Amino acid sequence: MIEVTNLSKRFGGLVAVDDLSFQVDAGQAVALWGANGAGKTTALRCLLGLIPFSGRVTITGRDVSKQGKAARRQLGFVPQELNFHDDLSVAETLTFYARLKKLPNGSDFSDLLARLELLPHLPKRVHDLSGGLKQRLALALALLADPPLLVLDEPTANLDIRAREDFLALLHELKTGGKTLLFSSHRLEEVTALADRVLLLEAGRLVVDAPPHELAQRLGWSSTLHIYLPEATIDPALAQLTACGLPVSRNGRGVRVQVAPGAKGQVLRVLHDAGIVIDDFSLE
Ligand code: ATP
Repeated sequence: MIEVTNLSKRFGGLVAVDDLSFQVDAGQAVALWGANGAGKTTALRCLLGLIPFSGRVTITGRDVSKQGKAARRQLGFVPQELNFHDDLSVAETLTFYARLKKLPNGSDFSDLLARLELLPHLPKRVHDLSGGLKQRLALALALLADPPLLVLDEPTANLDIRAREDFLALLHELKTGGKTLLFSSHRLEEVTALADRVLLLEAGRLVVDAPPHELAQRLGWSSTLHIYLPEATIDPALAQLTACGLPVSRNGRGVRVQVAPGAKGQVLRVLHDAGIVIDDFSLE
């Protein structure tokens, strides 16, 4: 669906995107994850053909530098900063954008609007909508022509927690319905909730391309498991866990073990198999 090859973008002396290559397959949800300034927005703007860049980007085989319009017809874009005409109503905004996209007069968007729960808000002025509704309107506009690909720049950055959850649920639904999603985010919880694959950008460079459940391991994150045990079983527990090669030490009422992601169960299993009763545990 998307093929990015050696994409770089400089602003004067600053390399905002540095030799980025990745692919997105049809039906996948892929997150560009990174801190503010990592280059996510710039990468998306290149991908949309909005700014010149070096390298090559194709969308469903269309080169965005050479066939920009044809490539953009394959996608709907939800920008980070929404720029509506505040005085128009929701219905007028939809008509305006439908004309811009040259959709047939009188196109019926009622299914889309029902799905995004926008029908009751059609007569309202955009100015009077909540942040969550504005974001849903932006999504509706991106979906007017029913493109196979949705590109979203920090889609929940300006939403409160409730609106964020609702919006993520919508995106999840769209993904289940077969849309391909590429979105940027600096929120790990959002990335792991929605993405099949996460591309971590640091200073414009791609440093990790992995499914969310492999992220912690790939980034070398580990956590500490505190296991509370009856006093008499602490030494045997230390011996058992050490014998399994686990980094363990005594910790007041029990033991403390450094655990790699996906390995917490192993610690509990070793103790259980050795007949050691666990009073309690906590994770740090
Ligand atoms: P944020 O979420 O804060 O937007 P980001 O990961 O999207 O972060 P970008 O907006 O792509 O990051 O910015 C990457 C770098 O490029 C930053 O150092 C930014 O200051 C710089 N930059 C972005 N646009 C321009 C521009 N038009 N002119 C000069 N520098 C720019």
